[in-house]
Amino acid sequence: MKSFDDAVEFHGHTCGGLALGYKACELAVEKLGLSFSEDEEVVCITETDSCTIDAIQVVLGCTAGKGNLFINNWGKNAFSFYRRDNDTSIRLVANPESRNEDPKMTELRQKVFSGKATHEEDEQYHALSHEWIDTILATPAEKLFTVKEAVELLPGRARIYNNVICSVCGEQVAEGLAPVIDGKPVCIPCLRK
Ligand SMILES: [Zn+2]
Ligand SMILES: [Zn+2]
Repeated sequence: MKSFDDAVEFHGHTCGGLALGYKACELAVEKLGLSFSEDEEVVCITETDSCTIDAIQVVLGCTAGKGNLFINNWGKNAFSFYRRDNDTSIRLVANPESRNEDPKMTELRQKVFSGKATHEEDEQYHALSHEWIDTILATPAEKLFTVKEAVELLPGRARIYNNVICSVCGEQVAEGLAPVIDGKPVCIPCLRK
């Protein structure tokens, strides 16, 4: 399994969300016996658009470009994983323990993200963040997530289309995504005009 440092390198910074995503991968690997998905063997549906997702992309190879990562912005740290080869799946829902409820942290976070933190407060925030990341990484994944059954159906494999030319803008567009209007294909941006 790829390391947390690999995820940090891809993500650009280290943070609690990335650590939580990494732990979700750990648990999914353990429960479903997953390995890195070179193609579409593993599928992930997320219920958040947070930093967590980047750990999943790096560790399990469920990526935005391969058609095996589906991001729902529902504001829930919940992740469903599917194995195409044996039809097994799992949904991991983050427990309240996975959130840093330290009031000091909440106060500092507000100051830092509104640009009102002093230099000392900024340093304090980062020190506390790093402590929290270490805490998350050291916590057994079973304590961070509740294991449930996946509810969403496994999406179909990524589709590959032929291209056609949009009759309005003249640009190439995937055939399946260009509705035919009066016998001519029209791309979605042109349809919206
Ligand atoms: Zn982040
Ligand atoms: Zn067009």
